[in-house]
Amino acid sequence: MTDQSTRLLIHGASGRMGRALLRLAAQDPRLTVVAAVSARGEPIAEAGDCPVLPSSRMDQAPAYDVAIDFSLPEAFNGVLEQCLARRSALVSGTTGLADRQRAALDAAAARIPVLWAANFSLGVAVLAELVRQAAAALPGWDADVVEAHHVHKKDAPSGTALHLGAAVEAGRGRGPHYASLRAGDIVGEHTVQLSGPGERLELVHRATNRDIFARGALEAALRLAGRGPGRCDLGRLLLDREPA
Ligand code: NAD
Repeated sequence: MTDQSTRLLIHGASGRMGRALLRLAAQDPRLTVVAAVSARGEPIAEAGDCPVLPSSRMDQAPAYDVAIDFSLPEAFNGVLEQCLARRSALVSGTTGLADRQRAALDAAAARIPVLWAANFSLGVAVLAELVRQAAAALPGWDADVVEAHHVHKKDAPSGTALHLGAAVEAGRGRGPHYASLRAGDIVGEHTVQLSGPGERLELVHRATNRDIFARGALEAALRLAGRGPGRCDLGRLLLDREPA
């Protein structure tokens, strides 16, 4: 730990994303993970010397600047409450949140810095911008978002598919149709298909490694630490359109 390092709590630490976050944070001298939280607090190899807590004891975690949450909707309220109680920032990539959880996130932004994103990759930030432009240029064409993920993914359509659908809607005033595939160990694939008479345009993003999401979330945490309350937009942050 260095004096100026950003102190993190990783929530959902035993999961696929949580373990990637722990591994990559340990390699970054600007970051110190002070606690890892999972549902049951089971040992996690990637946590190293950092304490692992069950969610029922999250309030016992040492002080942290930012909580990074990649868990499940049923776990989300707990980490949001803790961040509010401690006035710490929250970076969350948990998908499948209910409307009232999204509203709670909006309300929390009046008191703490908050960044939620359906996808923390640079490629998807750029894709969403391209999709908005293409949909605006082709307003009469059919629009479909087709996504594929591993068999363990619980929500469908994926949060990223809905994010891309919002970009379609922003471009042409109407959302797309969605199709979801769950198979094998696919990390995440999204195709936005615009179909007109006699031709078809496909914009595709394929994630082959979860580290891209973890890196984006760690970068977001570094940028959020020390900010005042409010919502931060990942697209602007990753595309460097937001001041550091
Ligand atoms: P996972 O199932 O592998 O891990 C889930 C984690 O949540 C585990 O650590 C588990 O212990 C924890 N958890 C479950 N119930 C809990 C509870 N009640 N209290 C505290 N912790 C609890 O899932 P994953 O593949 O790591 O994905 C996690 C989330 O991140 C999902 O919502 C997924 O869709 C999302 N995700 C987002 C992005 C992005 O870029 N935004 C990328 C990948 C995954």
